Amino acid sequence: MDRPAISGGAPIRDKKIYYGHQYIDQADIQAVVDVLKSDYLTCGPKIGELEEKLCKITGAKYAVVCSNGTAALHLACLAAGIKEGDEVITTPITFAASANCALYCGAKPVFADINEETYNIDPEQVKKLTSEKTRAVVAVDFTGQSVELGSLLAHCHANNMVLIEDGAHVIGTRYKGQCNGSIADMTTLSFHPVKTVTCGEGGAVLTNKEEFYKKLILYRAHGITRDPQQMYHEPEGSWYYEQIALGMNYRLTDIQAALLISQLDKLPVFSARRKEIVTAYDEAFGKLPQLVVQKEIPESDTTRHLYILRLNPSKLCINRKQFFEALDAENICCNVHYIPTYYFPYYEKLGYQRGLCPKAEKLYEEMISLPLYYAMTDQDVEDVIKAVTRIAEYFNVENSDET
Ligand SMILES: *Cc1c(COP(=O)(O)O)cnc(C)c1O
Repeated sequence: MDRPAISGGAPIRDKKIYYGHQYIDQADIQAVVDVLKSDYLTCGPKIGELEEKLCKITGAKYAVVCSNGTAALHLACLAAGIKEGDEVITTPITFAASANCALYCGAKPVFADINEETYNIDPEQVKKLTSEKTRAVVAVDFTGQSVELGSLLAHCHANNMVLIEDGAHVIGTRYKGQCNGSIADMTTLSFHPVKTVTCGEGGAVLTNKEEFYKKLILYRAHGITRDPQQMYHEPEGSWYYEQIALGMNYRLTDIQAALLISQLDKLPVFSARRKEIVTAYDEAFGKLPQLVVQKEIPESDTTRHLYILRLNPSKLCINRKQFFEALDAENICCNVHYIPTYYFPYYEKLGYQRGLCPKAEKLYEEMISLPLYYAMTDQDVEDVIKAVTRIAEYFNVENSDET
């Protein structure tokens, strides 16, 4: 449905722009075609090649690729030994998978509130919510900004807990100069098309610990081993294998692995362009009292996956829904990341109630995800800035007081 722009004039742009979009070039296409012509469609040489590449890029000792980011979180929880009766602390400002992975293992997700300026999980809240039952923290690098790994790791290790970093947004980010993925006990990645690099569906778990690595490999493929050292019985022949745990089929295909290897070659340029766009947005919006810019901790050198525009309700006479619709009328099609997980009916039925994390709930009321992706042109970026500025100024409370 086309409506005139909110101020009554023509929209800032005619062609719709969306909040995210993948970028696929000829090299990506050729990489996929080459696999289709090869002997392996799944679990061939591209899997190992991709895992090596992820280790090289992030500095992690081990990488285990799998079918998607949700599978990666489930595998990480299984490797951490999460079981019924355990508690897992996470943030509500994330995709549902960050908490669902605890439920898959029969554990209870416990939601810790965020830092109101960085929007990441607040380590002080994590400490407060830690109990005898807490086995792990799933900390999400929301928007790509690193969580406070120093304090989270210290707390987890002092309390015999595992720190799982949900790094679905984080590829390309560094914490104190070191790549995220090589710091937490385990870091999960997602390669969904809206993420910084993609292979359609895909995920990975990165770790430096051999103990976790062995379990991740086992759980990825049915709990089946071909390693005689892990077997309970003498191998009966070269065909012989044993199932020694209840695993899943969370394998990635060689087709996807080849696409991701090619995408990873572009990570430095993807990252640079995203940083450029974030700088342009921050500069423009930082000047407007109607808007709030996400704060960065100095330890994080961030490749932003999402750009969060936060409204300052005391300076605007419209709410988030109206601002969102005004952007839509300018043909800037945004999104909201995220609805607090425990708002969902499934979680309500489990007994979670609103009011649990007031800072997260307030952020949810005030935020909009603006377009941010590699292929945006300078004109696209300019259009977004113009539209946001126009709406913010038009609906400034001071203007409305005059009328
Ligand atoms: C995308 C995402 C996931 C899930 O990844 P999939 O590959 O879609 O399964 C998990 N956590 C966060 C924070 C995400 O953004």
